[in-house]
Amino acid sequence: MSEKIFIALAWPYANGPLHVGHLAGVYLPADIFARYHRLRGSDALMISGSDCHGTPITLCAEREGITPEQVIERHHPSFLNTFRTLGISFDLFTQTLTENHYQVTQEFFRRLSENGCIYRETMIGSWTETLKRFLPDRYIEGICPRCEYDQARGDQCDRCGRLHDPWELLEPHSTLDGLPVTFRETDHYFLDLARLQPELGAWLQSEDRAYWRQNTLQFTQNWLKEGLRGRAITRDIEWGIPVPACPEDDPAFKTKRFYVWFDAVIGYVSASIEWAERNGAPDQWKEWWDAREAQSARVRSYYFLGKDNIPFHTIVWPAMLIGYGGRTLPYDAPASEFMTLEGERMSSSRNWAIWLPDIESAYQPDQIRYYLAANSPESRDSNWSWSDFIRRNNDELLGTWGNLAHRVLTLAWRNFGAVPAPDELREADRRLLEFAAEAFSNVGGLIEAVKLRAALQAIMALAQRANQYLSEEQPWFLIKTDRSRAASVIYTGLVVVDWLKTLLCPFLPHSSQRLHELLGYQDVIASLPGIEKTIDSDGRERLVLSGKYDSSNRWEPVPIPIGQSLEQPTPLFQKLEESVIEEERERLRRQTQGNEGGIKSNGSCIQAS
Ligand SMILES: [Zn+2]
Repeated sequence: MSEKIFIALAWPYANGPLHVGHLAGVYLPADIFARYHRLRGSDALMISGSDCHGTPITLCAEREGITPEQVIERHHPSFLNTFRTLGISFDLFTQTLTENHYQVTQEFFRRLSENGCIYRETMIGSWTETLKRFLPDRYIEGICPRCEYDQARGDQCDRCGRLHDPWELLEPHSTLDGLPVTFRETDHYFLDLARLQPELGAWLQSEDRAYWRQNTLQFTQNWLKEGLRGRAITRDIEWGIPVPACPEDDPAFKTKRFYVWFDAVIGYVSASIEWAERNGAPDQWKEWWDAREAQSARVRSYYFLGKDNIPFHTIVWPAMLIGYGGRTLPYDAPASEFMTLEGERMSSSRNWAIWLPDIESAYQPDQIRYYLAANSPESRDSNWSWSDFIRRNNDELLGTWGNLAHRVLTLAWRNFGAVPAPDELREADRRLLEFAAEAFSNVGGLIEAVKLRAALQAIMALAQRANQYLSEEQPWFLIKTDRSRAASVIYTGLVVVDWLKTLLCPFLPHSSQRLHELLGYQDVIASLPGIEKTIDSDGRERLVLSGKYDSSNRWEPVPIPIGQSLEQPTPLFQKLEESVIEEERERLRRQTQGNEGGIKSNGSCIQAS
């Protein structure tokens, strides 16, 4: 029976382009995971979208003197381009500005409220006397009461991960003018996390979560140990989803909006609904989300995110789903660590980052994918270094894998034009084929456990072994002395290259598709997403990324048909010159110099990280 795998990706704020750290930590691992499951014949649904609300957007708009919509119109299409170019195979990448999302969010709130999971309370807002208005938490900075980090944000400490309220900070001040803020009373709705804690705890303990990553598990357990308390879901801000008059009408709430985290996590549901509607089967989303349907279909939901986002996905969102009732809870939330750049922490405000729009066309997409997958910040921080990028490209991707495929294909094409019929296979041939066949279950098991780095290592070890086999058998000499033995060796090589192509397909879809064609296959093994225009119910034109992906079972060691004609091979990967290292480092230096105060060199701004 095929499995149903729901793959949710944390929604990126549409306030700046994506950098390599985002790709390495969230989008690429999720794509590898989704592509693998489709190759296995599973039903995978991969969704996300641009997060268009909240202070990251308003901060950006204010800095540049434009509207929040203009900020989004600048960055949402850039996300779509990046994902299309790099082959991130979303079933739907939408945005939170849709009518559908507004309705789903408001309905979610009403239901939570009816179920007694929302309460109203007077809280303390951060007030700026100079601007005479309330300031959102992100406009506040101060000293973290737990770890004493002196640049803790009003809502969360970036160093220790503590979530808090601004008045808990020591020396709180406004980031707009650096002046101290005062605190005033204002009414808000709260999610009653304390009430939901027992059920949440029971859910967490309902199975052994040892398959969760250490960081995910620890964060979650620590949080629960501290004891949950209510969390405000509305804010005094003009930009966001209006709060419906519920449970009682109150003009005070007309000026308030949902807090951005609240509507962003609900986006996982609203995007699924939008996907089903676009698919012409409006109820299909329930197969994933209706707990009863999902249980009988054995749905497993994976949330890919950076470690700073863990509490929202293992505590707050599951609590909201429990409070709503009858919805599928997360199965896993594989959180990544951070990626540094040339040994230093990436920083948007210093413009110390590699922006994907700057490199996505300069290198082959699979060169970028390979480096980030092989060097993924999966279980510990990793580092992007240009010299390592060049080395891994030339030695591993091209040296170990590209050359293997090219050598075997060239020998086969020149001497036979098609997959040659082998003579009787010898011990060395059979040993390699057995080793290669076993890789399907080994690598598959690693990918299912979201150990993608180890999976790629196992595949590269197989490529290495195939290279060794060729060096020992020397088919380029055999072809002159013993053509039938040469045919057996080249056949064995082709079978292994073909299987490596399948094993690598989730990681390297572009080159795997190309190799698939060189091997004489006519069909598509690695579909790519496309950008589509869509008209929202309010008549507004929007862009989304989506695609139709094959999900026939191919994750099996089936030998390539004897006699299948081959195409004339050309190399899969480009060699990169050593001079690239200095050029790219120079570009980074110029980039940091041409930029101050959080404005990127191309004029777009993004929240300091
Ligand atoms: Zn802290």
